[in-house]
Order: sequence, then structure tokens, then C-alpha cells
Amino acid sequence: MIPVDEARQIILDGIEPLPLEKVNILEALGRVIGEDVTAPRNLPPKNNSAMDGYAVRAEDTKNATAQTPVVLAITEDIPAGTIPRQELRAGQAARIMTGAPLPAGADAVVRMEDTRKDGGKVYILAAAYAGLDIRMAGEDVAAGETVIARGTVIRPAEVGMLAALGRSFVFVNRRPTVAILATGDELMDIDEAPSEWKIISSNSYSTAAQVLETGGAILQLGIVKDRREDLIAKFQAASRADLIISSGGVSVGDYDLVKGIMQEVGNAMQFWQVAMRPGKPLAYGVIQGVPVFGLPGNPVSSMVSFEQFVRPSLLKMLGRKNIFRRHIRAVLEEDLEKLADLRYFVRGRVRREAGRYYVSSTGEQGSGILNSMVQANGLIVLPEAETMIARGTEVQVQLLDASLEHSDRPD
Ligand code: AMP
Ligand code: MG
Repeated sequence: MIPVDEARQIILDGIEPLPLEKVNILEALGRVIGEDVTAPRNLPPKNNSAMDGYAVRAEDTKNATAQTPVVLAITEDIPAGTIPRQELRAGQAARIMTGAPLPAGADAVVRMEDTRKDGGKVYILAAAYAGLDIRMAGEDVAAGETVIARGTVIRPAEVGMLAALGRSFVFVNRRPTVAILATGDELMDIDEAPSEWKIISSNSYSTAAQVLETGGAILQLGIVKDRREDLIAKFQAASRADLIISSGGVSVGDYDLVKGIMQEVGNAMQFWQVAMRPGKPLAYGVIQGVPVFGLPGNPVSSMVSFEQFVRPSLLKMLGRKNIFRRHIRAVLEEDLEKLADLRYFVRGRVRREAGRYYVSSTGEQGSGILNSMVQANGLIVLPEAETMIARGTEVQVQLLDASLEHSDRPD
């Protein structure tokens, strides 16, 4: 049996980010970019108007007020999307719309509200200064500037920037494909004829959902009987994936064959049993370079083990730097007891009140009580050394979702 931190270290030391692939910028959303993105040209490319109004030479308007307007001759109309045709000379203005490029000679825009049109002339009612209401070429991004650094997680803002720079494809770390298999003679799939003697392989689904939520792709290998030949065949098929997750068959029962199979298929075992609850029977190994997680069969153990070991591994493969869930400090609202020498992950419900976090357990904590996960938005992490944790103590909570980042009010 090894400590949680050591187990995590062994696993993560053996995992590298996956190679890069070229994807459409929308497919890059949420993924890690594997290249520095440099602007090929200025953004915006040309000086353009920030307002609907008149492009002018600021010098011409310096004495303009509402009482003493300056009158300028209109040379042309420049809606957005057209190219100016005439250079502006002294005494002239061009009618211009937001986003349209400035004509040569112009150095300011007087907005519509400060003008009055009269046939081919315009009355300028306010003085402009050079640069007024102009978006300068390169003011957003200058040619040659690195705008998005390698390693950045792509959000909608980066997608927009990539589009603005004319990039339709970028390099990101490939998504890990995760083979998922469930072991156990007692298991059936959702759609099979219901039987009082069988249980539905919910792990196949909770694990798949965890993989998808983390950004992996799934290769669903279904249910395998507790038989040597079947297990060997499935594990061999699974080694095409980037990572393998099986559930069940890692305890000390007569039909717990997974550890033996891992050893047989790939001489693969790295450790078995971690000093934690739930999740103690975890078996970990590597088959032909592919990490294999033998998660315990109990639904809660499986999910909690995934959180501690598989999720950070997948995020590392995806090229992420921050691969661990956020932890907060919360005030414990009940007394908790535990065994020494094991790290506990107690399913908890965290709430925020007057700027502080409070947490209570979600009740019955058996490793088969999936409902304790359904109620939870965090795992209360109780250190190995503790045995009694009193109500009112500040404890660490590993957040499992974004429920605390959203509010029922807009402010
Ligand atoms: P095992 O580790 O194989 O002894 O499994 C422990 C318990 O977990 C079993 O008795 C089942 O009740 C449950 N279990 C195992 N595999 C699954 C699964 N795929 N989905 C849901 N529950 C499971
Ligand atoms: Mg079993």
C-alpha cells in the first residue's frame, strides 16, 4: 500500500503531453495550443474610423464651435467596406462610417452629432484634434507581435483573435483516446433485459462521462466476464488507446483477476493499493507504454480514484499546466471520524455564506452509495494522520464542479 501523493507522483512522472495535431479553431476551444501565434500583419490593417461622422484635417477645425462652425466641402462618401478614392485637401471633409478606412490626408473624425450637413457642405460644430476617433493601424495587434503563447488554453477570446489574424487552423495537443472496460460476471448493460440478479454497469457510463468532461475521447469496450481469456483479449484490444481504464476485479476476491492480467499482458504492474478511502484497491501499470488504471469496482471508489489519478493524467496528456482541481478551505459543519493512515475523501456539499465556505458530508459514505456523489459538489480531504475532526474545524475541500462559480443573481 502506498500513499496517495506517491501514487500520483509515479503515475504523472510517466505521462507526457500527446503529440500535436492541426485542428479548426473552433475545435481548439478548451484545448492547449502548441505553437506561438504571431501576427502576420497589423490589426486593424489600416487607420479607420471609430465613429460615424466626417473625416477631416484636424488643423481645419481648430476654431470650430457650435456658434462659429467651420464649413468644409464634402469630397466623397466612405461607407465601411469601401476604399477611399480621394486625398483630403485643406477645406475638405469626407463622410465616413464606423470601420471605414480613412482617406489620405485625414487625421481625425468628427462624429455625426457634432456636424450639420447642408447639400455638398458640412458644418463642423466642434474642434477635433489629430487622432480623434481614429482606430490606428496596429493599435490592437502590431505585425510581428506574439499574441497567443504556446501552452495557452484556448477560450472564445483566443478563437476570435485567431480568426482576426486569418488563422483557420492551429496546432493543439491531441486528445487522449481512453479505452473503458468493466469487469464482473454480475454486470449487465442498461438496455439488457432487467434482472434482479444483475447490476447495471454504471461505471461504464460515469467513467466515460468523466473522460469526456476532462476532454478525452472514449473507446467503449463494454463488459468483460471474470475469465482469464476474456480479460486478456480485452486488455490487448485496449492497448490501441492512449490510456486504459478498467473497473472491478482489483480486490482480494477469488475472481479479482485484473492485477494478474495486467502483469501477464504487459509485465505492467507498478503498484497496487493506495492508502485512501474510498479507492484503496487501485492497481496501476503500463502496457506497452500505455498507462492502465485498474479502478475499484464500487461506483464511488471508481469515481473518486478517477478524480485523484486519471483526471490529472488526462489533463497532462492534453498539454495542460494546471492539472489539479481547485481546493478551498471550508468550515466543517459536523464531527467526522476516520481510521489513521488513510487519506479520506468524504463526499461533501459546500456552500458559501458571507464570504466563507461551509461544508457538510452528503450522508451515508459507503463506497457503493452512488447517491453520495450525486449530492456532492466537493470531496472533503481528511489527512492520513487525523482520526477525529471536530465540527468547526477548517478542512480542505477539492471542488468537483463549477457550482460555486455560478450564482443565481447576475451581480
Ligand atoms: P469488485 O471490485 O469487482 O469486487 O467490485 C466491487 C463491487 O462494485 C461489485 O460488487 C459491484 O457491486 C460493484 N461494481 C463492480 N463493477 C461495477 C460497474 N461496472 N458498475 C457498477 N458497479 C460495479
Ligand atoms: Mg468484480
